Amino acid sequence: MSERKNLPVQIIGGGLAGLTAAIKLTDYDRQVILYDQPGEPDSAECYRSVHTTQFNLDKTCSYLDLDITGCFERVESETVYLYGRRITKSSRAYACERGNAIGSLDHTLKTIALKKGVVINYQPVATVERLSDDKTILATGLNQSAYQLLNIGHTELTGYEARMASSKRVTLTSFKDSYTGRDFAYIASKNGIVYTLLFSRNGVDLKNLVDYQDHLRQTTGLIFPRWSQIRGCVPLEHHLFKNDYILAGTLSGVIDPFFLSGVVGAMVSGRIAAMAVIDPPNALREHQRFVKNFRIKQHLYQLMQSRLLPAGAKIIVIFLHTLFRDVGKL
Ligand SMILES: Cc1cc2nc3c(=O)[nH]c(=O)nc-3n(C[C@H](O)[C@H](O)[C@H](O)COP(=O)(O)OP(=O)(O)OC[C@H]3O[C@@H](n4cnc5c(N)ncnc54)[C@H](O)[C@@H]3O)c2cc1C
Repeated sequence: MSERKNLPVQIIGGGLAGLTAAIKLTDYDRQVILYDQPGEPDSAECYRSVHTTQFNLDKTCSYLDLDITGCFERVESETVYLYGRRITKSSRAYACERGNAIGSLDHTLKTIALKKGVVINYQPVATVERLSDDKTILATGLNQSAYQLLNIGHTELTGYEARMASSKRVTLTSFKDSYTGRDFAYIASKNGIVYTLLFSRNGVDLKNLVDYQDHLRQTTGLIFPRWSQIRGCVPLEHHLFKNDYILAGTLSGVIDPFFLSGVVGAMVSGRIAAMAVIDPPNALREHQRFVKNFRIKQHLYQLMQSRLLPAGAKIIVIFLHTLFRDVGKL
């Protein structure tokens, strides 16, 4: 047992879940080697961007035993365009920067991890080759190969994103319209950039993008010079353990199935994955506690897709969804 304890735990994927798991494992006096994809920025799927999410910042910091308060700022003003209606409301959301810039959530977690002695290797990893004698944590986010390797049910999403410099304060505007297909679009600003994302689990095409660009121009006056395509996978199942791996982050299913908010879930599941190395039964209980509400949210999401449901009823379903907390009770 003590020999096993000396083996470093391997983590594949250096996003929010992988970094949090690494930090928490050092708290259990475990050595960690973390593999991330090479190149800039570290989180390949999340280049410099602004993510927003509603959560209890203090309780989350206390659950994680990590001070990440400096990475989050309250959204000052929030506007929603719902099938042509404009709603302005006081916001309960926070914004954070993703990517590798100083002050971003990823950079902050990486700095903590390095200070605590985590070894980070930037090299391409074929996950299938990385099974070691000791535990391996997989936290590869939206990357399709792990879903295929582990035979985890998933759905694919595609979209377009864009960013540019901006002096705007912390704001959030979301769009749900015919061009957003099964999902939505948002535009958010923080730390001198404004970022926008249009995505859907049934795909968005160039016509959808042009319609969104038109709507953006009319409503916000913004014209983004360069757009790039994104693609990834969203899990339809929740697993803490699969084959011989411990899963964390999006891959473990800890992502809100309705709006695909995953920032908080990724960090929470990182902590749970670290616990799974030391105390598997308790970690499994904790994982189940956090995904408890996701099944009902998945049903509400399916309901939203019904063509028979009028726009007014869809607004009610969106409201109903907000009654269920993203990651259970912290
Ligand atoms: C464009 C976009 C916008 C989003 N907006 C929001 C938002 O506004 N609010 C919100 O709450 N959530 C948002 N999300 C979801 C949120 O970002 C994710 O749920 C969260 O990042 C998941 O964390 P993770 O650690 O599982 O994955 P990630 O943070 O994506 O990290 C995965 C890491 O694994 C690495 N990796 C992948 N494969 C390999 C491999 N074979 N070898 C080594 N490393 C590998 C990747 O490079 C990456 O660094 C968004 C996601 C995307 C893609």
